[in-house]
Amino acid sequence: MYDGPIQDLIAELSRLPGVGPKSAQRIAFFLLDADEADVTALAEAIIRAKQTVKFCQICFNATEDETCRICRDPRRDHTKICVVEESKDIVAIERTREFRGVYHVLGGSISPIDNRGPADLHIRELLHRLEDDSVTEIILATNPNTEGEATATYLARLLGPLGLRVSRLASGLPVGGDLEYADEITLGRAFEGRRIISGGEPVHQPEPSGWRAGVAGEVGEVGAHAVVPSAGDLPAPVGGTAESGQNPAPADESTMSLSASAGGQW
Ligand SMILES: [Zn+2]
Repeated sequence: MYDGPIQDLIAELSRLPGVGPKSAQRIAFFLLDADEADVTALAEAIIRAKQTVKFCQICFNATEDETCRICRDPRRDHTKICVVEESKDIVAIERTREFRGVYHVLGGSISPIDNRGPADLHIRELLHRLEDDSVTEIILATNPNTEGEATATYLARLLGPLGLRVSRLASGLPVGGDLEYADEITLGRAFEGRRIISGGEPVHQPEPSGWRAGVAGEVGEVGAHAVVPSAGDLPAPVGGTAESGQNPAPADESTMSLSASAGGQW
């Protein structure tokens, strides 16, 4: 459509997540119209971030140091690990102030369509963190969409035999959505109402039936002394779950189920 540098700019912008060709064109012309100093500041901020931001050696959160602020904080509860897909999910959960434990960033979700399996995520590093038995609870806070559910199911089966308490964020989060876009209250309530899916006493009432309870029964009673799987032998992910994919519940139905299950708690 356009020639030379402007077409290159549009092409580069349209590769950004969430930016379609139309938005890319709008941003390109906005930049061309902006003060040169502002555009230079933007370009320099991108390059500086790219050159200085690293990933925490413990949890893979974005940081400027070897380890992140949360992992270094002795006031955090290091016996609880909240597993998220991306660093940006940590920001969303921190905003709720519901969680005082630490995190583990997977670096994405299991997605056969995108050719991304368990070995492509930081799962073996998570297992490594569990080796000294100091961690007692894992909270699976992957996104409430098909890939996030599949990832949570996979991890629940993997972690269940280790005798940990494994919970999944309660619904109330929009199905098919991203944690990033959930408002603080919804995400905070989801955190508070998280359900144990494996091991330990329920935080609140567990679902009386349904696949989560099924998972807990299946993997939660194997025993507390199972061996942590070693790095090389991550099992293959299970196929689709009953809940992921075929028949996604409409968003308002899941929101209603939250109010139903959470009634009387607050
Ligand atoms: Zn960290």
